[in-house]
Amino acid sequence: MTLITTDDLKALFARIAEAMVREKDHLCELDGVIGDADHGIAMELGFSAAAKAVSELDSTTSDPTLVFNTAARSFLNAVGASSGPLYATAFMRAGAAAKGKSSLNDDDIVEVFAAFAKGIQDRGKAEVGEKTMVDAWAPAAAACRAARDQGLPLAECLAAALRAGEAGADATKDMIAAKGRSSRLGERALGHMDPGAASAVAVIGCFREHFTP
Ligand code: ADP
Ligand code: MG
Repeated sequence: MTLITTDDLKALFARIAEAMVREKDHLCELDGVIGDADHGIAMELGFSAAAKAVSELDSTTSDPTLVFNTAARSFLNAVGASSGPLYATAFMRAGAAAKGKSSLNDDDIVEVFAAFAKGIQDRGKAEVGEKTMVDAWAPAAAACRAARDQGLPLAECLAAALRAGEAGADATKDMIAAKGRSSRLGERALGHMDPGAASAVAVIGCFREHFTP
């Protein structure tokens, strides 16, 4: 079993920030169709700020909870869009799930991942089927937990999470939005993927890559 340290979590945030730079234009395009075209900017700004803030922490004295709490604060400060408080809450919950631990094991990462997804759901009060990032995060977290319960290694749990998240994001194309900006569009949102679900898949993909040996 691998031991995940503060340095590993710093590297995870750096990896996600890099992915958001790559995904920025695509996410803005998706948000341009059913929202206000800023989702890629929000995610890039938020994760860049979070990655920078956590990189400046002293790894010898900073535990995983401090990494997540620092990320939450900087993401929230950097992002004015609705994704700001959603991801900030995810990080806070991840930090709470890691509380009291100087490093994390594979089971802890499964708990962190589940807490992360639940934070988004609790903050935004969206259910699956309402065409939001929850349509990717909730099935991903459930698949991750189910795979772990079957005794699979972390990398396979996160691969299952990614598959479920991708399927959930794909399913948002056939949904009418019930939460967020695109809910004003009614049936005109049909046929288009939710940008928050698309970025969630990119974030989940980073978790999978990062914890695959
Ligand atoms: P804004 O809509 O303020 O411009 P963003 O463009 O950054 O914010 O994010 C839009 C995404 O936020 C949507 O695609 C959707 O996935 C997500 N979202 C909006 N409202 C909620 C909510 N209540 N719960 C979960 N996700 C939400
Ligand atoms: Mg937007």
